[in-house]
Amino acid sequence: MAGSVRKSGGLHAGAVLTIDLEAVRWNYRFLRGKLGARVRCGAVVKADAYGLGAQYVAPALHAEGCRDFFVAHLDEGLRLQPYLPESSIYILNGLPGGGEADCVDAGLVPVLNSLDQCQAWAMRARKLGKALPAVIQIDSGMNRLGMSQREIAGWVKGGSQFAGVDVRFVMSHLACADVPSHAANAMQLAKFRRLADLFPGLPRSFANSSGIFVGKDFHHDIVRPGAALYGINPIPTRANPMRPVVRLSARVIQVREADKGDHVGYGWDFRASTAARLATLSIGYADGMHRAVAKTGAVYFEGQALPIAGRVSMDSITVDVSSLQPDRLGAGSEVEVIGDHQSVDDLAEAMGTIGYEVLTGLGHRYERNYLGTADLSRAELVRELQS
Ligand SMILES: *Cc1c(COP(=O)(O)O)cnc(C)c1O
Repeated sequence: MAGSVRKSGGLHAGAVLTIDLEAVRWNYRFLRGKLGARVRCGAVVKADAYGLGAQYVAPALHAEGCRDFFVAHLDEGLRLQPYLPESSIYILNGLPGGGEADCVDAGLVPVLNSLDQCQAWAMRARKLGKALPAVIQIDSGMNRLGMSQREIAGWVKGGSQFAGVDVRFVMSHLACADVPSHAANAMQLAKFRRLADLFPGLPRSFANSSGIFVGKDFHHDIVRPGAALYGINPIPTRANPMRPVVRLSARVIQVREADKGDHVGYGWDFRASTAARLATLSIGYADGMHRAVAKTGAVYFEGQALPIAGRVSMDSITVDVSSLQPDRLGAGSEVEVIGDHQSVDDLAEAMGTIGYEVLTGLGHRYERNYLGTADLSRAELVRELQS
């Protein structure tokens, strides 16, 4: 099964992105294994499954038994819905004004983040004469999305006014779960419990990837991992327990000899202190190689680090390959950007950011190879019907 590869896009692409769906599934099973038997493991597939292709990733998770999918935007939910039979798709950013009809028609579940959204959803339910599913988000201290204590009091007082809203569960989101010892975690948990008690008998959802590792108290009834499914380390202070999902390699366009004193790239930022051999690779900031990576970044060839020389261009970077025997690397060679020697998190660190931003910023020019697609005949079928 691991041998099954599906290619998409970029027949003559300069760089190759490989996404291992078997690893995504392994990561899902691993996270599920950390949960009690009655806790459901959902999956966050917003932003095109963190840039990896939700139409492939979500069916892979579905094949693994996942039935609770979270996206950010209503449009993302509408696009994914045909791939996910017998599943719930929740819209984390809530119900956009005027989006009620599309949400109802596609059977999507909005996360209601304000009393206004609750009222709009209740009104729609009254109009249709049927209950409509929703999730209620409680703000437990992040102050980003969700109902405040005052709004929740308004909900409780509203009583029968909200009878048409079929609340599936209440949820909240952790601000500091990637630091398990952070005082905010316990404070948010206490506040979440206190406010969730105002919704007696309803299931609860609290933990993202990192939250799963903070402790069993944080699991409640449904967890919402995203990053860890895609191989990002959920506990950055410890060794990464997840399997890597992404490999990225860029092709050499050209190799050139530079004399001592020659300059490289825009702004002449790099000057060769000795004669050097340079390779220009077909990957640049339009492909998610942030310009910030130039300072400390490297790529790898046969395990050897090749430092980036000069600024990152839109479509290319130049690396110093002087340390390699001249015949080992030439035009067309593939150089590792993300892989065995440099994880997503390593590359993120060199860019001064986090793995989430690296993945969601990968861009659209790659040749994409999906490993482990054998079970995805349904997704394939849907895609063919839609094209
Ligand atoms: C993005 C998001 C998640 C997933 O977080 P990860 O850190 O990627 O696991 C869970 N819940 C909410 C509300 C989110 O916005």
